[in-house]
This record gives sequence, structure tokens and C-alpha cells, in this order.
Amino acid sequence: MRLSNHVLFSAPAIGTTLENMAKRIRNETHPEILFMPLMHGSFMFAADLMRQVSRHCLPGLEMDFINVRSYQGTESKQLELVRPSHRPIRGRHVLLIDDILDTGKTMKAVTDYLFDVEQVDFIQIAVLLDKPSRRQVKTMRPDFVGKVIEDKFVVGYGLDYNGHYRELPYIGYLEPEETDGSTA
Ligand code: 5GP
Ligand code: MG
Repeated sequence: MRLSNHVLFSAPAIGTTLENMAKRIRNETHPEILFMPLMHGSFMFAADLMRQVSRHCLPGLEMDFINVRSYQGTESKQLELVRPSHRPIRGRHVLLIDDILDTGKTMKAVTDYLFDVEQVDFIQIAVLLDKPSRRQVKTMRPDFVGKVIEDKFVVGYGLDYNGHYRELPYIGYLEPEETDGSTA
């Protein structure tokens, strides 16, 4: 597999994009924002974004994580959401951070859970990549987007294919014949 021939978003380009996203986030979020990365795909993006934002001194910034696991239920794909910290976040202003917004089903499940169960006050969404052509939940619109991409299966910079490629410092894509159609 020659992934280096399929680079979609180079490491320097990701760096510049994150600087710009961080500036906007600093100006357009609450001073006591709670950053909430969706694990695991967003770990690299969230870590780099967080460093950029805190360099710009967002006072009161805190971090909490949510684990999202998808599995095949009896009739359809089910999502399991776990927030390891169990700390009350009622009334908080949350910035959800994910690697990629695809159909929007994951983000819809997470936002419903945070509003209905955790009773947060306000949610904003930051994604590194957006594939709007694949959207099924039409109401799901991210507030901060790094790059809009076409319908390709991407890997690297935290995103995997069957557990591989997460370590890459850039984002590349796999040709359809290089995947079996499953997503991370
Ligand atoms: P959604 O629920 O929006 O369809 O899916 C979002 C999740 O699917 C992402 O957080 C990511 O884990 C996975 N996903 C969607 N598209 C891709 C892709 O192109 N590459 C990888 N590695 N994962 C993807
Ligand atoms: Mg994911």
C-alpha cells in the first residue's frame, strides 16, 4: 500500500488549519468551555487543538472525554456512549471534538445524550474533517471545520482502518479496493 501517494492533508497544512480553528474557538466559545473529545479517533486532533487554544489563553478551559463504540445490534448499528469521569456537567457549555463528521449519526447520538441525560446547556461542534455529501442527519452542522473533503475513506492523524494508520502525522486516503467498506 503506497499511502504516501495518497496524501490529502499534510502535517504542515493540518498545523496551519489548527491555528486558525483555535483562533476562532477562542473568540466564539464560552470562557469556561468544556472540551469533550470523542474517543478514540479524535485523540491527536484534540491534543493539538487544545495546545493551540490554551496558547491563546482561554481561561477556565476544562477537558472531559466521551467514549463512543459502535457495534452491530440485532437490527442495526448501535452506539454505546460512556463518559468515564462521571463528573456532573449539568449547565455546562460543551465543545464536542471529533475527527470526522460523516453521516452525522454519531454526533446526533452524543448531542442527544448530553442534552437529555447530562443536561448540558449549550453544545458547539469542532471537527477536523467534514464529508457533507454523506450526511444523513441534515440538522447536524459543525460550528468549526478544518477541511471539507469529498467521499473518500481517510486514515492517519488519529483515524484508523482496522486499527492501523492512527500514528501517521498526516491524513491520507485509501482507495475503495484497499478497504472492505467498514469504518472506524
Ligand atoms: P458518522 O456517525 O458521522 O457517520 O461517523 C462518524 C465516525 O465514523 C467518525 O468519528 C469516524 O470514527 C468514522 N468515520 C467516518 N468516515 C471515516 C473515514 O473516512 N475514515 C475513518 N477512519 N473513519 C471514518
Ligand atoms: Mg470516531
